[in-house]
Amino acid sequence: MAERSFAKEVEQLKLGDGATFRGEGILAVTKALLQSGVAYVGGYQGAPVSHLLDVLVDAEDMMAELGVHLETCTNEASAAAMLGASINYPLRGAVTWKSIVGTNVAADALSNLSSPGVMGGAMIIIGEDYGEGASVIQERSYAYAMKSSMWLLDPRPDLPTIVRMVEKGFELSEASHAPVMLELRVRACHVTGAFAAKTNRASAASGINRIGEPAKFNYARLAHPPLTFAHEKLKVDERLPAAQKFAREHKLNEFLDGDLKEIGIIVLGGLTNALLRALSRVGLADHFGHSRIPIYILNLAYPLIPDEVKSFCVGKRDVLIVEEGFPDYIEQAVNTELRRADIQTRIHGKGVFPKAGEYTGEVMLRAIGGYLDNLLSWGDFLFVQSTIDTLSEAMAIYQQAEELLGQRPKAAAAVGDIPPRPPNFCTGCPERPVFAALKLTQREIGPTHISADIGCHSFATFAPFSMGNSILGYGMSLASAAAVAPNLKARPISVMGDGGFWHNGLITGVASNLFNKNDGVLIVMQNGYTSATGQQYMPSSKASRQGAAPGMDVEQTLRSFGVKWLKKVRTYSVATMVKTLKEAMRTPVEGLKVIIADGECQLARQRRVRAEDAIKLKAGERVVRTKFGVDDEICTGDHSCIRLSGCPSLTVKPSPDPLRTDPVAAVIESCVGCGLCGEVAHAAVLCPSFYRAEVIQNASAWDRLLHRVRQTVIGWLAPKAVAA
Ligand code: SF4
Ligand code: SF4
Repeated sequence: MAERSFAKEVEQLKLGDGATFRGEGILAVTKALLQSGVAYVGGYQGAPVSHLLDVLVDAEDMMAELGVHLETCTNEASAAAMLGASINYPLRGAVTWKSIVGTNVAADALSNLSSPGVMGGAMIIIGEDYGEGASVIQERSYAYAMKSSMWLLDPRPDLPTIVRMVEKGFELSEASHAPVMLELRVRACHVTGAFAAKTNRASAASGINRIGEPAKFNYARLAHPPLTFAHEKLKVDERLPAAQKFAREHKLNEFLDGDLKEIGIIVLGGLTNALLRALSRVGLADHFGHSRIPIYILNLAYPLIPDEVKSFCVGKRDVLIVEEGFPDYIEQAVNTELRRADIQTRIHGKGVFPKAGEYTGEVMLRAIGGYLDNLLSWGDFLFVQSTIDTLSEAMAIYQQAEELLGQRPKAAAAVGDIPPRPPNFCTGCPERPVFAALKLTQREIGPTHISADIGCHSFATFAPFSMGNSILGYGMSLASAAAVAPNLKARPISVMGDGGFWHNGLITGVASNLFNKNDGVLIVMQNGYTSATGQQYMPSSKASRQGAAPGMDVEQTLRSFGVKWLKKVRTYSVATMVKTLKEAMRTPVEGLKVIIADGECQLARQRRVRAEDAIKLKAGERVVRTKFGVDDEICTGDHSCIRLSGCPSLTVKPSPDPLRTDPVAAVIESCVGCGLCGEVAHAAVLCPSFYRAEVIQNASAWDRLLHRVRQTVIGWLAPKAVAA
C-alpha cells in the first residue's frame, strides 16, 4: 500500500525507442534506471523520493520481466549495503532514500562500499530535503561525497538532463569504479516535462539470467586493513582522475554562452532553473533559458573538473558562484583552483547570497541585485562601456522589483498577525488520543521528560500538545533517554512509531535498554504502516506488497527480547491509556515498561473503508458511518475538548444563544467518528455535550422501523423539538 498509486504512469515505463515520455521527474528517473539495464533496485522511502520507491513497487511485475530485483529495505543502511552486489559482480544497481538523514544512517555501508570500489555501476538517488518545507536537519549531502570519494550528480531540473545523468551516472561509476550519488531536490522530483524514451534494457546478468559462479576470493575487494590504505590511494590517484576525465569527455557539465563575456556564473545543476528565472526578471535571460551572462552548470557537483573551471574563469573579471547551503565547498574549491593557476578572476558567492538557507525565487533575485550592485560599483575600472550599460539597465529593473518587495512589510502590517498553522495529526488519527491521555496523566503525576522520535507522532510537538524534549533520529527515542533516566526523578517516556521500531528502534533502543537494564517507559505507536512517508508496508503490517502479511509482530518481538512489563492498549480508549500510563510511571517494577498503543492509521483506514463502502453502496448494501457532534445548548464554550484533542474537525461556531457571547464547540463534516471526543470528555470528566450519531445509507426495514419508533417517542417527550 502506498499513499498514491502510479499504476497508470507505470504504463509509460514500457515505452520504447522513439516514443515520447511525459511525466514527473521522479518517474523519469525510474524509466532511466530501466533504460540503463539495472539488475537490482531498492531503498527506504522518505520525502522527496518516497514516490520513487512507490513507482518501483507499482512497476514490480514489469521489472520482473527484465529480471530486476526489487527490495523494499527496512532502513537506509540495508539499502546501501545492497550495493555490495556491485563490488564483485558486473551488476548495475540503484538505491534511494531521503537525505541527509538517510545518508547518515547509511554512512557506514557507504564508506565500506566506496573503499574497495565497484565493478558494476552503483547509484544512490538521494532526495535532498533542504529548504522550505524540509522535514529534516539542514545539512548538505555534499560532505559525504567528498569524504568517501563518491561522485555527486546534481542534474539541472529538466527531464532530458535528469535522464541523461542517470544513464551517464552508471557509466561514470563503472569508468571510475566509484559509487555515484544523484541528488534530487523536491522541485526536481516533481518537475514535469518530456523526453525521448529508449527501449528498456535487461541486465546481462540478472534474476532471469543468473551468474554461474560466485566471485573468486579477492582480498582487495574487502574494506579491511591493510587494503584500506591502498584503497585511499586508489581513490585519489586513479578513481578521481578517471571520474574527471569521464565527465570532461562526456560533457556532464554544461556551458551556456552569453554576450557579457567579462563576467560569468557557476551554478549547481539543481539551481539552474531558479537562477535563469531571476536573470530573466532583470532582463538578463529570456524565458527559454538563453542568458546574457555565460553560465557554467555543474550537473556533476563533485568532483570539480579543474580544467573546466579554469577555462571558464580565465579572461573573466568576475564570477558568481551559486551554491545553496553551508559550507561553501564549491566557492572554496574554485578559489583554490584559480589561485593555484594564478588566475585573478574575482569570485563572489556567499556574501552576495546568504550563508545558509534555501535559494528561493526571492533570495535568488535579491542576490542577483546585490551582485549587479557590486559589479557596477567597480564597473568603470573593470568593464567595457557596453557591459556597464547592460548591467545598469538590469539594475534599474531590479530596483523596481526591490521597490515592490519593499512594500511587503507594509502589506504584512496591514493584514495584521496571521496565526501560525502548524502541521497536525489527520482527523481521527489514532496517535492523537495517546497524547490527550498523556496530557491528562501529567495533570496528575506532573510533567514528564518526553523523548520524541521521527514519525507522525512528532506532530505532538506542536499545539495543543507541545510535547517532546528531544528528537535524535528515526527510532532513536528510547536510546536518547538512556542518560536521562538515571538523572531524573520521574521516569522518562519515549515515544516511537512501529516504523521507527523496525527502522532502528528495536536494536538501538530496546536491545540497548534491556542490555543495560535501564528503567523507563516506551510507547510504541502501532498504526500498521510507515504512515508519515505515505503508508508503505513494513514488517508488522497486516499485508505486504506481495499480498500476505510479512508475519513479524511488535509484541512478540518485544517479549522474545525479554520485555516483561508490556501492555497493549487500543489508542482511542483514553481512560484505559491514562490508567496504563500512570501504572507504568508508578510501578515499582524496574526495567523497561512498554505500552503498545494500537490503532490503524486513520488515513490508511479511511482510504480502505471508503473503497469498501463504495462497493457496498453500489450493491445496495447497508453502510453505517459514525459521526460525533456537540449539543449547542449544553456546551459551555470553555473549549477544554479542543485543548485536549486538537482534532481539525473540532472547531468553534457562534453560540445560538443570544445571551452567551462565547463561541461553542462544533464538529464539522470531516469528522470520521473516531470517538476521541467522547472518550476525552469521559476520561477528563469534561462535559456531557458530545453525542454520537450513526448515518445509515441503504437502511434496512429494521432501521426504518426503529427510526419511526424513536421519532414517535421523542415526539411524546419533546413535541416542540420534533415539530421544529
Ligand atoms: S497519516 Fe495516519 S498516523 Fe499519520 S497523522 Fe495521519 S492518521 Fe495519523
Ligand atoms: S470524533 Fe471527534 S476527534 Fe474523532 S474525528 Fe470526529 S471530531 Fe475528530
